[in-house]
Amino acid sequence: MNNFEEYCTKFVQSVGSKEGAVSPALVNSASFAYGTPETAEGIFDGSVKKPLYSRMGNPTTAKLENILAEMDGGIGAVATSSGMGATALATLSLLASGDEIISIGGLFGGTYSFFDETLTRFGIHTRFFDVDEFDAIKNAINKNTKIIFLESVGNPNMRLPDIKKISAIANEAGIALIVDNTITPLSISPLKLGADIVVYSTTKIISGNSSALGGCAVFRAINDGDDKFKTPRYDFLAKFIKGAGEMALIPNAKKRALRDFGMSANAHASYQTMLGLETLPLRLARVIQSVETVAKELSENGLNINHPCLKAHVHHERYLNEFKNGCGTLLTIDMGTKEKAFDFLNRTKLAIITANIGDSRTLALHMASTIYRDFDDETKKFLGITEGLIRVSVGLENPQDIINDFLQAAK
Ligand SMILES: *Cc1c(COP(=O)(O)O)cnc(C)c1O
Repeated sequence: MNNFEEYCTKFVQSVGSKEGAVSPALVNSASFAYGTPETAEGIFDGSVKKPLYSRMGNPTTAKLENILAEMDGGIGAVATSSGMGATALATLSLLASGDEIISIGGLFGGTYSFFDETLTRFGIHTRFFDVDEFDAIKNAINKNTKIIFLESVGNPNMRLPDIKKISAIANEAGIALIVDNTITPLSISPLKLGADIVVYSTTKIISGNSSALGGCAVFRAINDGDDKFKTPRYDFLAKFIKGAGEMALIPNAKKRALRDFGMSANAHASYQTMLGLETLPLRLARVIQSVETVAKELSENGLNINHPCLKAHVHHERYLNEFKNGCGTLLTIDMGTKEKAFDFLNRTKLAIITANIGDSRTLALHMASTIYRDFDDETKKFLGITEGLIRVSVGLENPQDIINDFLQAAK
C-alpha cells in the first residue's frame, strides 16, 4: 500500500490558486458573450480558444477536466453530468447502429441496463463475459466490435480483472478498451495498463461526500505512427485526427456525444468535485486499510464476507500482485436470506442505507430488493446477486466502530 504521496502534492497545488481567490472560480454562466462577430466566428471555427456555451464546456469544469486528465496520464478529459453520462459519452461517441460491445466483469446496474436494454433499441448489441473468460472474449471479437468495456472491480461481485491481459487482447485485435475506474481512482491507472479511455462516476469517492453528481471520461493521446484508431474500424475518427491530431478523441467525444446528447457537467458540481478531489489521496489511503481490517475481522467472526483480501477469494493472488493499492471501498456480506439481510440493516446503527458508494460515511444496501430488483434470475446469477447480499461501502469512521456495530447487527 502507498499513501498516494505524489497526488497529495499535485491535487492541492492544482486546485488552489496562488494569486487572487484561492478556491477555484465558480463560473455559473450558461452562455458567454463573444463581444464581436469576428470573435464569435473564431470561437465557432476553433481558432479562438474561449468558452462557446456551457453545454460544450465551462471554465470551472475545464479546470476539473485538466486535473483528472493529468491524474490518469491522459491527453484530455470531458466532465459529464453523472457517471452514466461519462459511460454514455465514451461509448456513444464511438458507436453506430450495427456495432457490438464486449462487456467484461461487474457490472454496475446502470451500465448493464444501458448496454442490454437501451443500446439494443438502437441496434447495438452487447455480449457479457466474466473477467476470466479470456478465450470466449477473444472469440467474440468480430468486424463489428467497437468497444471492450471493463470495470476495474466487479460491483458488487468483487471479482478482479487482469487488466493487462484484457488490454493485450484489445490491443492485439485493434479494439478500443474503456475501463470504468470509479471504484479505484489513483489505485489503478488504466491508461498506463493499456486502456484507451477511462470513465468515472465522480459522484463516488472522488467527490466523496454525497454533495455532487458528476462523471468524467479521460482519453489517451492518438499516436503519431500506427494507432488502432487510424484503422478502417474507426474511419469516422479520421477527420478528427486530421483536425486535432493527438487530441482527436476529445473533439470526437464533444461533437458526437456531448453536443447532441447534452450530458454536460454543471459548474457547481465541478466546483464541489474539486473540493472533494483535494483530499481524495488522504481518504483513499485510509479507507483501503479500513476495508481490509473490517473484511478480515468480520470474516474471522463467522460472517460470509466477499473481499479479495481474504485468502479464500478466487482473485486473492491477483489482489496481492496487481491491486497493491487496494480495490476501493466495497465489500459484501451474504446474510443468506432477504429476512436476515433486512434484520442486519435494521439493526446497524452506523451504516447509512443508500444506493451510493465511496462516501465519507459507511453505506449499506440490500442488492436484490433495490438496484437489481428488475433483473431476471439468470442475470442476477451472472452478476453475483444472491438473496441475502448486502453491499457495504466502508467509510472514514474508526474501523473498530464499524466492526463492533456490524457484529451486533449480525447477531
Ligand atoms: C455509480 C456508478 C456509476 C454511475 O455513476 P452515476 O454518477 O451515479 O451516474 C458507474 N459505474 C460505477 C462503477 C458506479 O459505481
